[in-house]
Amino acid sequence: LEQNQFTVCYQPQVQLSDMKLVGFEALVRWNHPEMGYISPSRFIDVAENSKLIIPLGKWVLKQACNDISEWIHCGIFDGTIAVNTSGVELEYNDFVDDVFEILTDSKLNSRHLEIEVTESSLMHNPTRWLEILRKLADLGISLAIDDFGTGYSSLSYLRQMPVNTLKIDQSFIEELPNDADSCIVAETIVGLAKNMRMKSLAEGIETVEQCLFLRKVGCHVGQGYFFGKPLNKEDAKQFILQWDQFRKKLLDEF
Ligand code: C2E
Ligand code: CA
Ligand code: CA
Repeated sequence: LEQNQFTVCYQPQVQLSDMKLVGFEALVRWNHPEMGYISPSRFIDVAENSKLIIPLGKWVLKQACNDISEWIHCGIFDGTIAVNTSGVELEYNDFVDDVFEILTDSKLNSRHLEIEVTESSLMHNPTRWLEILRKLADLGISLAIDDFGTGYSSLSYLRQMPVNTLKIDQSFIEELPNDADSCIVAETIVGLAKNMRMKSLAEGIETVEQCLFLRKVGCHVGQGYFFGKPLNKEDAKQFILQWDQFRKKLLDEF
């Protein structure tokens, strides 16, 4: 962090009904001067165990809010930025205050921010989360449950939590639309979200067939290499500027 080795990438999120670009997920990247690119799946665990995830998470949130705010204020984007958070970040008491301060400093309206929490982290400590999530919701921030379907959710907790989005885990999207079990699971999570007045988002969409299946069953938002890989700030800005062309092409094909 001190040596500026981290960057934030942005992966597009697309509303499946009309292919509108509605958001980005912020994903941290570590470019080590000797070891090269190190995947977050390797260092996030280490950062959590050493609690270094607290300053790192705060740094990512700040970058993401600043970048999105820039795009919003120059009039090219009006969607949300989803930022991953780890359970460790909630164990210290200033989390909600820090989020509020970052929103204020970056002049970003809270409706543009979505906090992502994994289902397993949420269900590991649901009472603590419930308290924090209610405070975040009071500020107008949305909440998405990441990797949904992999973490034994208690449906009674889920009902009490101010959740806006269920992110269907990539493992259920991979085998669509040929594997019957994956189809059932994906469609069921979409239905659960709908009945609980939440949005559903499918992660890891790589093919047109997956996209069409999810669109057919009423999944709200899609994210994955089919639409775009995580992009650095400059490329993400270009992506926004060029999206309408892609969008027209996609809608014509469908
Ligand atoms: P995640 O939150 O589930 O993020 C989705 C991962 O899937 C990302 O990996 C993304 O690059 C990858 N992905 C997206 N679309 C596709 C696709 O179509 N096909 C395939 N095969 N993969 C796709 P990434 O960036 O390596 O991040 C891995 C994990 O690290 C994330 O999983 C998240 O749990 C964690 N992470 C990343 N950035 C942060 C952060 O700032 N804070 C925290 N706490 N965790 C983070
Ligand atoms: Ca995520
Ligand atoms: Ca995920």
